[in-house]
Amino acid sequence: MAQHFLLSSKAKTLRLADVLRMTDQEAETTFGKIRWFETEGEPVCPHCGGLDAYKNPRPKGSMRYRCKACTKDFTITSGTLFAGHKRPLRDYLAAIAIFCNEVKGKSALALSRDLGLAYKSAFVLVHKLREAMAEEMKGRTVGGTGKVAEIDGGHFGGYIKPSNHIENRVDRRLAANQNGKRRAVVIIRERDGNSVPAVFRTEGAALNWIKSRIQPGTIVNADEASCWDALNARFEMRRINHKEAYSAEGACTNMAEEFFSRMRRAEIGHHHHIAGTYLLRYAQEASWREDNRRVANGEQVRTVAHLAMKSKPSVDFSGYWQRHVKAA
Ligand SMILES: [Zn+2]
Repeated sequence: MAQHFLLSSKAKTLRLADVLRMTDQEAETTFGKIRWFETEGEPVCPHCGGLDAYKNPRPKGSMRYRCKACTKDFTITSGTLFAGHKRPLRDYLAAIAIFCNEVKGKSALALSRDLGLAYKSAFVLVHKLREAMAEEMKGRTVGGTGKVAEIDGGHFGGYIKPSNHIENRVDRRLAANQNGKRRAVVIIRERDGNSVPAVFRTEGAALNWIKSRIQPGTIVNADEASCWDALNARFEMRRINHKEAYSAEGACTNMAEEFFSRMRRAEIGHHHHIAGTYLLRYAQEASWREDNRRVANGEQVRTVAHLAMKSKPSVDFSGYWQRHVKAA
């Protein structure tokens, strides 16, 4: 039997122990090379694009640059997802490594224990990493002539706990007895290619989004749910009835199911409850992990760090706790 990828030496190209032993200078050089890879780590001014900067360290010693062209100051993380970071950069690299090594997901509480962070800081940090992963799938389309894609939906959130005494229990399938928080995550996944998820009230509400994200000429596989019938006019469809088989005559949605398997395991094993505002972020994380499941961990860490450095400061999480504490 072929060896599982994660057991092979190819999967293990980065050791957390090595990251934790880095000096501040080494961590900064590593981040610099990831952010400014075009100039091999030489600083590029985020304000004007100037290539000439001199070192202007802060009194406590952390590195800051001053652009010779526009005279503005900047650091390695200025204008990125890690702007205004409070911890040493090494900790962020370690957090990314831990986050990538956990192939199903990583809870903020566990990360806070691993790195001695406050829970709030860990919560914001893992959400920023999800945002970085999502950056890669912005506006993504999949498929194309002769290519095959799979679609499927799964429901998350809105769990209603049954009452203790049987006489108090209600039929939780009825809309009147639900809390309206249940959402459908819909995944489009190109076979042997990339995936893209989104969140809707129902699977049927995803049709226009599906049409906009799958290229014409793609053969689309779906299960027998009647909501997908409307896609017949746009795509060549292959349908699989899961009551009869998981795969028959070339039709199957097993790769889409794999995505849901990973997301469910993240929910059950790590997060316990993924729903509400950030459901899409968890779906994007599971999608990224699926697409990169056979990429070595060192490369995964480099990619996530690069995406984080490419992303603008977080819309959702810059000053998150300051805002939420004020609002409370
Ligand atoms: Zn400048």
